[in-house]
Amino acid sequence: MEHNNSNNFIRSIIKEDLATGKRTHVTTRFPPEPNGYLHIGHAKSIIINFDLADEFKGTTNLRFDDTNPLKEDTEYVNAIKEDVEWLGYEWDNLFFASDYFEEMYERALLLIKKGKAYVDDLSPDEIREYRGTLKEPGKDSPHRDRSVEENLDLFKRMRDGEFKNGEKVLRAKIDMSSPNINMRDPVLYRISHATHHNTGDKWCLYPVYAYAHPLEDAIEDVTHSLCTTEFEDQRPLYNWVVAECEMDSQPQQIEFGRLNLTSVSFMSKRKLKLLVDEGIVDGWDDPRMPTISGLRRKGYTASAIRTFCRELGVSKGDGAVDARMLDHFVREDLKLTCPRTMGIVRPLKVVITNYPEGQVEYLDAEINPENPEMGLRQIPFSREIYIEQEDFMENPPNKYFRLFPGNEVRLKHAYFIKCEDVVKDDQGQVVEIHCTYDIETKSGTGFTGRKVKGTIHWVEASQAVPAEFRLYQPLVLAEENNGIAKGTEETVEVTEAEEKDGTVETNNGAEKTFLDTINPNSLQRLNGFVEPNMKGAQPQDKFQFFRHGYFNVDSKDTTADKLVFNEIVSLKSSFTL
Ligand code: ATP
Ligand code: MG
Repeated sequence: MEHNNSNNFIRSIIKEDLATGKRTHVTTRFPPEPNGYLHIGHAKSIIINFDLADEFKGTTNLRFDDTNPLKEDTEYVNAIKEDVEWLGYEWDNLFFASDYFEEMYERALLLIKKGKAYVDDLSPDEIREYRGTLKEPGKDSPHRDRSVEENLDLFKRMRDGEFKNGEKVLRAKIDMSSPNINMRDPVLYRISHATHHNTGDKWCLYPVYAYAHPLEDAIEDVTHSLCTTEFEDQRPLYNWVVAECEMDSQPQQIEFGRLNLTSVSFMSKRKLKLLVDEGIVDGWDDPRMPTISGLRRKGYTASAIRTFCRELGVSKGDGAVDARMLDHFVREDLKLTCPRTMGIVRPLKVVITNYPEGQVEYLDAEINPENPEMGLRQIPFSREIYIEQEDFMENPPNKYFRLFPGNEVRLKHAYFIKCEDVVKDDQGQVVEIHCTYDIETKSGTGFTGRKVKGTIHWVEASQAVPAEFRLYQPLVLAEENNGIAKGTEETVEVTEAEEKDGTVETNNGAEKTFLDTINPNSLQRLNGFVEPNMKGAQPQDKFQFFRHGYFNVDSKDTTADKLVFNEIVSLKSSFTL
């Protein structure tokens, strides 16, 4: 597989580790929590992890980080697998963190025996209160000095289901005055009487992310544990867990900047789930979603997404990347492979009054002029065709070179036609236009008699295939509630890991405010026509519609009777690399 060969700091670390003998192999992992579908940000993580291991002939595990029974589901497990495979990667091992629950529990017993963990009766709110702030040290829980025996007994009874949710937790005994809040006796285990997607009702005691993750990495002998920079402050705790639990393997956590995209201010599974749950989108794979499945359904290619992520490389920064850069790679990828075709999005009937009634001729058209090997297609032409409504104006402004009464234009691949007359309905709306054609002007015959300034596309009416076109605009208009700015809505008192574990109720009100900025015009559905050549088009087939852009045959709503096309990208953009 191709790699981005520009240097990145993680690659340098790995090279050095191999050169100095600190490592003899490279193992990475992609560790999604199965609590939603993957988004383009995850693609960056997937590509970094798999590409780096691949480059050093190492291995990459797909590991489901499934330690929170409340939010996880097998539907998400399957969707994530499908997305990783679609992106073009094969994992060497498939693991579930929940399969390590027993070992994690044993390691917790070890911590207790070493006096490094204790059972606490404080409520989650009290724990947060006692923890202090960035400016003030925390204070010890009254239960901090329980004896090892009492702790062992209580912890076993926690496992046995004797206590209710929130009644007791297991905490690491580290340092309540540490300048790093994550080290102020973090919670390691909490009680949750809930059915887990993998372990069912076997457990009511679940490890939190900050404890589970380093153990998962160590159990799998992961060498380089790559995560996003929000977890930088947790690295000391990560190392503490690996060391105090006396793991054989010593994984190293390395952070890189998360991917954020302009115009996608809602790139987190929680916000995406809200869009799905509120019915704002048609599921996780709605083409307006920044999910991998949404991008796939919209028509983005895996190879364009890989190129995009590789081009971004690995850095510590997490500034928003211009979404048009991704579109650029999509265009580049489709340019040479997509058949060209013509489709009418907003039809207007044209009758060519001097064309013989009942006659149909077939015109040659290149399938892709930039890739002549793709050959020719034949398109029918006859007395009645459809053109775009916007390609006709009864009273055109200056410099309008398309059809208007008395004006002549070129029909792509066919003839010049001249507008002679219009037909209006009772409301005065133009419903049909009448033209004449000039047989001398046939495309490909080298006609040079006169020039016209406009070339428009068209579809022959009698054989036209009805199609629905779906045009997309950004789903969310404003960038204000973008959640990219850290520490605004959710205060720093809530650590990343707690957010992940769902042990703290995040401010749902604030979370929902981005729903107020939903773009009411993010989806436009138009009924038009395509060339008869498109009849056998299959879901996920991609085409370049002349003058419109790239479109993908929708995989969900296309039926034998109706083709549905999703707009992938327009033909051009102002963006340059
Ligand atoms: P979200 O906040 O969207 O729910 P997450 O970080 O909670 O994402 P995980 O399932 O834990 O989701 O993520 C799996 C991996 O993907 C982690 O290693 C995480 O750091 C990485 N990841 C998540 N979002 C991004 C992003 N925007 N850019 C790069 N990597 C990301
Ligand atoms: Mg997260």
